[in-house]
Amino acid sequence: MAEVKELLARFHEAASNPKALKDKYLAEGRKVVLVNYYTPEEIVHAMGAVPMGAWGADVQLSEAKKYFPAFICSIAQSAVELGMKGAYEGASAFIIPSLCDSLKVMGQNWKVAVPSIKFIPMTYPQNRKPDFGHAFTRAGYDRVIKDLTEVLGDTFSEDKLAASIAVYDKHNAVMREVVPVLAAHPEITNEDRCAIFKSATFMLKEEHTALVEELIACLKGQEAGKGKIRIMTSGILCDAPDLLKILDEAGLQVVCDDVAAESRQYKADCGKEGTPLDRLVEKYCSMDNDTLLYDANKGRIQYIVDEAKKAGAKGVLLVLTKFCDPEEFDVPMIRKACEAAGIASTVIEVDRQMVNYEQAKTAIETFRDVLEA
Ligand code: SF4
Repeated sequence: MAEVKELLARFHEAASNPKALKDKYLAEGRKVVLVNYYTPEEIVHAMGAVPMGAWGADVQLSEAKKYFPAFICSIAQSAVELGMKGAYEGASAFIIPSLCDSLKVMGQNWKVAVPSIKFIPMTYPQNRKPDFGHAFTRAGYDRVIKDLTEVLGDTFSEDKLAASIAVYDKHNAVMREVVPVLAAHPEITNEDRCAIFKSATFMLKEEHTALVEELIACLKGQEAGKGKIRIMTSGILCDAPDLLKILDEAGLQVVCDDVAAESRQYKADCGKEGTPLDRLVEKYCSMDNDTLLYDANKGRIQYIVDEAKKAGAKGVLLVLTKFCDPEEFDVPMIRKACEAAGIASTVIEVDRQMVNYEQAKTAIETFRDVLEA
């Protein structure tokens, strides 16, 4: 069995060099389809292509500025910037969901700015619980299948989808399992934890599942390191290396998260009833406690408090992506609920162009002092 250090190195390698992975899959004759947030990856997988995460990157914006006003978040802008600069070259399509105003604008801009990689819209309903929400989601998936059939030249089959659903549900399960295992091992740094999640967005899920299973087995047989201060993170992304370093140096350990690119990806499995496509529709329609998914009762607020308590987190760090309206609206409610529950919280604002983390460092060190008191 590989050692923990060796396995972590493989997660870091995949997380830090998605281009190499993309080129490897292309060289193997696989097609690549870009995805982010919630898109029906299982359909892409069932049609023989590799779904790869496209959440932008920490790059300076120049070309994308021709298409976006300054107040659109850096995730949308940097993904288009990378597309315009050829970072996704070789990908066949980009499925962009309609989950917020920035993503809606991003899809339209992508069509013009990166014409070589087909934009496939995935329009989700806000009211996803009633039957009409299911029907609307199903119509969106039918449209994705139609567009993918044109681009990939492969046909869709419900049998193949059933097999891909099994792959994805298994991956969901190991990603849920690894969170408390990592939390029990403070010697695993926040940078390591991030690499495990980030690599999942780039690798084929069956390959990633095998690596995570190996890691879990190794960690279960390893003595835990010295305890750190346990915190929960919440936000869209928490993958900036400088930020993770600051958390590590401050002695803070992320023991659970409500991060869109991390645990939120793995909360819901496919339904158990109906055809494979029905089951995939049920997956989206059953999702809850998420900034991007309409909920008049804002269940996400109590969810964060409950998850923090369950994991023994002393504080909640809200990593707020600049210009992300959906996340900004929830911040006052989360902080109030945390305060009422006796859980400390703080907010740091980040974006993909951030080069100076001194302000974030001061805020995090102060947060650490509060948690230690
Ligand atoms: S960071 Fe916020 S505004 Fe930007 S794409 Fe994500 S959800 Fe939308």
